[in-house]
Amino acid sequence: MKTLPFDRDFIEKLTERYPTPFYLYDERTLRRTARYFNEAFAWNTGFKEYFAVKANPNPAILQILQSENCGGDCSSLPELVLCERVGITGTNVMFTSNNTPAVEFVKASELGAIINLDDITHIDFLEQCRGGSLPDVLSFRWNPGELRNVESVIGNPVEAKYGLTAEQMFEAYKIARRRGVKRFGMHTMVASNLLDSDFFVQTARSMFEFALDILRETGVRIEFVNLGGGFGVPYHPDQKPLDLKKVGAEIHNEYEKRVFASELGEMRICTESGRFITAESGTLITRVIHEKHIYKNYIGVDSCMANLMRPGMYGAYHHITVLGKEAVPPTETADVVGSLCENCDKFAVDRKLPKIEIGDLLAIHDAGAHGYSMGFQYNGKLRCAELLLQEDGSIRQIRRAETLNDYFATLDEHFT
Ligand SMILES: *Cc1c(COP(=O)(O)O)cnc(C)c1O
Repeated sequence: MKTLPFDRDFIEKLTERYPTPFYLYDERTLRRTARYFNEAFAWNTGFKEYFAVKANPNPAILQILQSENCGGDCSSLPELVLCERVGITGTNVMFTSNNTPAVEFVKASELGAIINLDDITHIDFLEQCRGGSLPDVLSFRWNPGELRNVESVIGNPVEAKYGLTAEQMFEAYKIARRRGVKRFGMHTMVASNLLDSDFFVQTARSMFEFALDILRETGVRIEFVNLGGGFGVPYHPDQKPLDLKKVGAEIHNEYEKRVFASELGEMRICTESGRFITAESGTLITRVIHEKHIYKNYIGVDSCMANLMRPGMYGAYHHITVLGKEAVPPTETADVVGSLCENCDKFAVDRKLPKIEIGDLLAIHDAGAHGYSMGFQYNGKLRCAELLLQEDGSIRQIRRAETLNDYFATLDEHFT
């Protein structure tokens, strides 16, 4: 059973001030999740979760996460500037990008961010961007290639554009040290939305082992490992949530054996989770405006794939609650659709739902990560508002809906 921290009356009242569609985030859920995440790794001195900003780049959300001791993981110039404006700077920023433009390395350096290089050639490139020197701290992204245990879970990292090969990693640390880098990190991220706790433990173990290889072969001591993101959430009510407590405890166990008991001695752990932190706290609220019965049944809502593209793009499941009909049995089968001229513009296909009437409010669950942020304006669709249900029960608009003026803002030369 998926539940929501509000009911139909509350939302109906809210729509008088804020017309649908809109995103609604629940501060309590967000804080609870961030705390749960941090607690799972609390055994590791210096642990830090760098929230993947791309999952939810709203300053209000970032501020809440900052107050829960999270940093920010950025991959572009605007994300870096966003963190800067929120006050997340220095080593609280991790910059993990690929195919990186020079201006982004310049900005990341200016902020004092920890830079994670995606390629061996970026050592020279970064040095040039910084006027001839490398930062004191530098991290490299490892692509484990055909590493057995990883491959079986997520498909083949050999096909992924990210990171350095194992051989290049050894070389990269040696070069970086020669050119003045003093402290080192290692990053990997090869999974997305996984609910299997073993996978994360195996990834950590591989990194600990690899860090030891690097120390023995090059003398470079890896000071932190960054396990990346990919921590999954149960979008479907039948799925079991990832047991993060167990993940943390088992990684701790590996740590004792492979880090504490070896020449490595100690190491900081970091993560760059996006989805796990914010997905559950966000709901897309939309109203039914049409129903249509042809070869199939369609429920038409006032939002579309431009507001949440995961179902249309990945066939991803997002649970839908018809507000006020939580206890009504799902006797109908329909596709829940938006208004784009694309047949993939569907929030649900062949979904069992209670009998719906025009005007009903739908809550699309677990939309707080890779939801609003993946939005677009195709078909002249404007992005909707984002609201925050604060801990004290009040509502705060944290991003207004786009207007026609926003749509035309980049076209001024035609109309002035
Ligand atoms: C997308 C991404 C993340 C966050 O992924 P989630 O699945 O949201 O946890 C973290 N790190 C990097 C490098 C990414 O590209």
